[in-house]
Amino acid sequence: MPRSDRPAAAHPKRPHLSTTFDSFGFAEPILRAVTELGYREPTPIQAQAIPVVMQGRDVMGAAQTGTGKTAGFALPILQRLMPLANTSASPARHPVRALILAPTRELADQIYENVREYAKYTGLKSAVVFGGVDIKPQIAALRQGCEVLIATPGRLLDHMGQKTVSLAQAELLVLDEADRMLDMGFLPDIQRIIHALPARRQNLMFSATFSTEIRKLAETFLNDPVLIEVARRNATAENVEQLVFRVADIDAKRAAVAKLVRERQLQQVIVFTNTKIGAGRLARLLERDGLNAAAIHGDKSQQERLATLEAFKKGEIVVLVATDVAARGLDIVELPAVINYDLPYSAEDYVHRIGRTGRAGASGVALSLMTGNDERLLVEIEKLIKRKLPVESLDLGPAEARPRRERREAPDARRERAAGAPKRRRPEGESRMPRASGYSTDPFFSQPYEPSQAEPAEAAAQAGAAPEVPARGSVTGPRKSARPLAALLGGGRKG
Ligand code: AMP
Repeated sequence: MPRSDRPAAAHPKRPHLSTTFDSFGFAEPILRAVTELGYREPTPIQAQAIPVVMQGRDVMGAAQTGTGKTAGFALPILQRLMPLANTSASPARHPVRALILAPTRELADQIYENVREYAKYTGLKSAVVFGGVDIKPQIAALRQGCEVLIATPGRLLDHMGQKTVSLAQAELLVLDEADRMLDMGFLPDIQRIIHALPARRQNLMFSATFSTEIRKLAETFLNDPVLIEVARRNATAENVEQLVFRVADIDAKRAAVAKLVRERQLQQVIVFTNTKIGAGRLARLLERDGLNAAAIHGDKSQQERLATLEAFKKGEIVVLVATDVAARGLDIVELPAVINYDLPYSAEDYVHRIGRTGRAGASGVALSLMTGNDERLLVEIEKLIKRKLPVESLDLGPAEARPRRERREAPDARRERAAGAPKRRRPEGESRMPRASGYSTDPFFSQPYEPSQAEPAEAAAQAGAAPEVPARGSVTGPRKSARPLAALLGGGRKG
C-alpha cells in the first residue's frame, strides 16, 4: 500500500513530552522570543507536535484554536528554517519556504502576528495575504521576500495568477482549520495550490473535526502522518466558572450585561448575541450606558473590523459584542469572561463560546442570561455538557429592569401624552429601536444564526470571518458543517 494511502496512525512511540521549551533544542533567537512572550511551559499540543515537526514528519493534528496550536507548528517550522536565515536585503535570498493556509482573514492575520513575534530575532521574514483588501500592498510585501507566507486560499491563487509570488522553493505546507476550509468550499483552491508546490515537502494539517472529507484530503497529501490529538476544550473545563442568570425579559438583558460588567469589574469581555443586528444594537446601547463597547459584524469594512479587534486586544474596548461566526477563530490572550446575552440556538455554540475564555491555563468566567423562554435552550446545553448549570436570578432594581421604551421615551411623546394624546402603537413588525442611518435593512441581518445551514454563507458576509469566495474555477459550494457531538466533546477520532 503506498504510504499516502495508509490511514493516519498514531506514532508508534509516543512523542517525548517536554516540560520546558529549553528541552526542544530551539535556537537561541527562538527561545528568546518565546521567553519574552511569557510562555513558560509548552501546552499539550506543543509538547507533542514540536518534536515531531522538528524531525520532519508529516502531522495530522486534532486541535482547535486556543490550544496553543500555532506555536505548536510555527516554532518548529522556524527552527527547521533557521539554517536558511540570512540578513541579506535581496528578496531572492528570502524565497517562500513555508506556506500556511488558513480559512479566514482574521485567523491568517492572527497566525501572522504570532509568527512575526516568534521569528523576530531569527532573521526569517514573514508576510500575510488575504482577500477583501487592496492587493497592491501585499504585492509590495511579497516583493521584499519572506520565508514564511500565511495566506487565505483565494487571495493566494490571485497572487499566483499574477505571478507576484513563487512557491517553487516551498518545503513546508500547513493547512490550518482544514475542516473550516472545506466547509467554506475551498477544497478545489487547496488542491490547485498543492499542485503548484514542489512534491518534496513536509505537510501539517490541523482540524478540529475529522469528517470523511477531511480524512480523504489527509490521505491525498499527508505522507505517513503522525496523528496528534489533544482534548478539545469543552464545557467541563475546570478553569471556566459557568453561571446562568435569570432575568425578567429581553428588555432587562442590556441592563444585566452592564451590571455584570461593572459589578465584576470585567476589563475585557466578549458578549455573544444570536443576530448581527442584535450585536450592533447592543453595542450602541452599552455605549450609551457609558461602557466602552463595540460590535464585530458584517456591515463593517475589513479595516474597521481589524481595528476593532486590535482595540479590544489592547484593552481600549472593554466589551466586544459579537455573533458566533464573527468571533470564531479569534484569539484574545487570557480573555477573562464571556457573556451570553442570548443563549445560543445550538448547544455546540455554547461550548465554542465558553472556550473563548480560560485559554492556555488561564481561568475564566462564562455568564449566561436567560429569560423564561430560554428554558429549552438551557436544557439542550446541559444535555451536551452533561452537567447542570447553576441558575441565579439577577436583581436589577426597578429603574434598571424597566423596559427601555418606558424609560427613554422621546420627550415629544411624553409631552403629547401629557396633553392627552394616546400612546402611538408600533405597527406589527416595526422595530422598537430607531434605525441608525446607513444601517442595513436587509432581513438577512435580523435572522438568527443557524450554524448547520447558514454558517458558511453567513461567515462570508460576517465580520471577515470568511474572507473571500473561493477563487474562480471553484466548483464546490459551501457545505453543511459536520460536527459530530462525540468529536466535540472527546476530540477527533483516531483514523
Ligand atoms: P493558539 O491556539 O495558537 O491560537 O494560541 C492560543 C493562545 O495561547 C495565544 O494567545 C498564544 O499566544 C498563547 N500561547 C500559546 N502557547 C502558549 C504557552 N506555551 N504558554 C502560554 N501561552 C501560550
